[in-house]
Amino acid sequence: MSDRWTEVGDRVFVCRYAFYDQDITAVLGGGSALVVDTRSTPAQAREILDDLRDLGSPPVGIVVNTHGHFDHAFGNQVFRPAVIWGHERCRSMLERFSEEQRAALAVAEPELAGGLAEVVIDPPERLFASEATLDLGGREIRLVYLGRGHTDNDIVVSIPDAGVLCAGDLVENGATPFFGDGFPMDWPATVEGLLAMTGPATVVVPGHGDPAGRAFVEGQLAGFRSIAALAARVHAGTLDPEAAVSEAPYPAVAAREPLARAIAQLRGELDGNGVTALAR
Ligand SMILES: [Zn+2]
Repeated sequence: MSDRWTEVGDRVFVCRYAFYDQDITAVLGGGSALVVDTRSTPAQAREILDDLRDLGSPPVGIVVNTHGHFDHAFGNQVFRPAVIWGHERCRSMLERFSEEQRAALAVAEPELAGGLAEVVIDPPERLFASEATLDLGGREIRLVYLGRGHTDNDIVVSIPDAGVLCAGDLVENGATPFFGDGFPMDWPATVEGLLAMTGPATVVVPGHGDPAGRAFVEGQLAGFRSIAALAARVHAGTLDPEAAVSEAPYPAVAAREPLARAIAQLRGELDGNGVTALAR
């Protein structure tokens, strides 16, 4: 069996890719596999298929996009004819903003330019708003939308019989969460929902970084609550913006964007499906 994969729960495997320190999860059911997220280009997605072959995985019948950022959905086409699931706004995010994401990424990561040219935007067609239950060869898989956070379309993939939650970029291990398309004032309540699903033995697989557990989710929640509280004080005029940066739970260089985005949300300035150029 391939040593590229770590079994984090019964027949639930995580493969770490150096590019963006990304986690891809494979769930093996009877005669079929489910893959969570598809990476940034078809070439990167074909690496997943190669690694699945080394794992001895059955064919991929179901793909889930945790949200509509390029590193989670630009490899979709490689997995067809699998069905692809996502939140209904994941589809609209890909339809509306993929070309912006592609152009910005080609500038930011020049070595990907060739691979990005090969991307055919192939959004999920199996859509839901709040919850869906899938059958993976006899295994139950639950998809849950808990509210806005990292984007307006993040979903959690729950594999109840294995005690594993794939949380996408609602939580990020080893780096400051990405707020560029986020809704910082909603994010705490959304992660409270994630925490409510997380038992003492649950394995939480973030979109990037080490799989972890409940204490990690609590730590992430504390950070999101802090950003929202600091932004509320700045918005109310009771805290200087620079003081908010120094009190923030992230390094100063990383704290400005979350605070600015939170204040923009408090001012009512965020479009419902905004996306920045360098989302991840
Ligand atoms: Zn993301």
